[in-house]
Amino acid sequence: MIDLHEEEHEIAIVSDVCSPELKIVQYGHPVLRRRAAKVGRVTQDVKDLVSRMTGIMRSVRGLGLAANQIGVPRRVAVVEIAGELTALIDPRIVSANGEETADEGCLSLPRLYGRVQRPTHVVVRARNLAGKQVKVEGEGLLARALCHEVDHLNGKLFVDAAEEGTLYWLVGQTEEGEPLTQPTTLEDALRVFAAARGTDG
Ligand SMILES: [Zn+2]
Repeated sequence: MIDLHEEEHEIAIVSDVCSPELKIVQYGHPVLRRRAAKVGRVTQDVKDLVSRMTGIMRSVRGLGLAANQIGVPRRVAVVEIAGELTALIDPRIVSANGEETADEGCLSLPRLYGRVQRPTHVVVRARNLAGKQVKVEGEGLLARALCHEVDHLNGKLFVDAAEEGTLYWLVGQTEEGEPLTQPTTLEDALRVFAAARGTDG
């Protein structure tokens, strides 16, 4: 997941990342639509994956990243909000309460945003890096990020849940730092990503 107000930094930094293994998978890649596989035991490979994902998430100022977004179809996600990093292995949402609608974006669908209704409070059960079962509770933005990342691991994207007529592109910034936006439709947005994919190689 990405914060609307951090997005301006994203484009420049992503283009500096030259190693292909650091590339975030963009919309249209089938790995984003597959249900990721359970991890089970937390091996050194899993710890290395978490550390790589954390580095990538931070380099693009994301709030969260799922392993399939870097092409690894396993149930691993990282979320970092207000300086607090949470690594989630085999996460599942065990309870959800309340509802709140807010704008949401995704590192795999750059510059596209839309309004998505999410619970205001969630409880997630997962394994931590030590392999221990943990309970993670999230309110507000953290609840939203946890839902967004668990959705990724189930092959779902925020555009699936975005309210109709609310999708827009972030096209720039005013001098005051306010986002400049341009409305779009899901159909048009997907066409833009498909075209980008065609020229990316
Ligand atoms: Zn995402």
